Amino acid sequence: MRLILFGPPGVGKGTQAKMLAEELGVPHISTGDMLRAAAAEGTDLGTKAKAIMDAGRLVPDDVMIGIVRQVLGSSRAAGGFVLDGFPRTLDQAKALAEILRELRIAKYWVLNFEVDDEEVIRRLGSRLVCRTEGRILNSETDGLAPGARCPECGGELIQRDDDRPGTVRKRLQVYYAQTVPVIEFYRALGVVADVDGANSIDVVHREIRALLNDLRLR
Ligand code: AMP
Repeated sequence: MRLILFGPPGVGKGTQAKMLAEELGVPHISTGDMLRAAAAEGTDLGTKAKAIMDAGRLVPDDVMIGIVRQVLGSSRAAGGFVLDGFPRTLDQAKALAEILRELRIAKYWVLNFEVDDEEVIRRLGSRLVCRTEGRILNSETDGLAPGARCPECGGELIQRDDDRPGTVRKRLQVYYAQTVPVIEFYRALGVVADVDGANSIDVVHREIRALLNDLRLR
């Protein structure tokens, strides 16, 4: 199964991607997670990417396309993948189509998560991320505060720098200007399934599982 998870920040893509990847036994490929790991390691790419991420802007296409080309071409992704956070521009979508053609991958699906802006702002404002394993929690629904310990692994729970209100607004602007056109590209290819991201994690997950059962038959 090859899935591309698409939608605004805070819609729940990362949470669902992790669950799906585990259940399907395929890697979760999150370009945001890769950039944050590079930033934590202090690599040249990571340091440059961190400044861009904290400003709510997009890392240049050629950099992102290079990263994704390498990961998708690796043996790790040979049996399938859940791609999360890429493509974010039309040029990235076109490059991905070329990469998939080169890898002779003809079948994939795009899950398009939808939720309104108010909910995005609310969710990102209360999102917590486990510093150790990247698990995503929420201070409101999980009753945890930044600095608390992850209930699963004991790692420190932090707020992402780019989840601050000013940066969230910029990320949403960038999403509408540069990322939304990508979904029309995929609609024209007939590979999009829409997901209502406003529901709870479990309800969304059940909806996706049902969708995947349908898609498997096509
Ligand atoms: P995410 O974790 O998917 O919300 O990504 C966090 C940030 O990483 C984004 O706001 C961008 O600055 C950067 N980023 C992640 N994926 C991409 C991409 N495909 N193209 C450009 N920038 C990206």
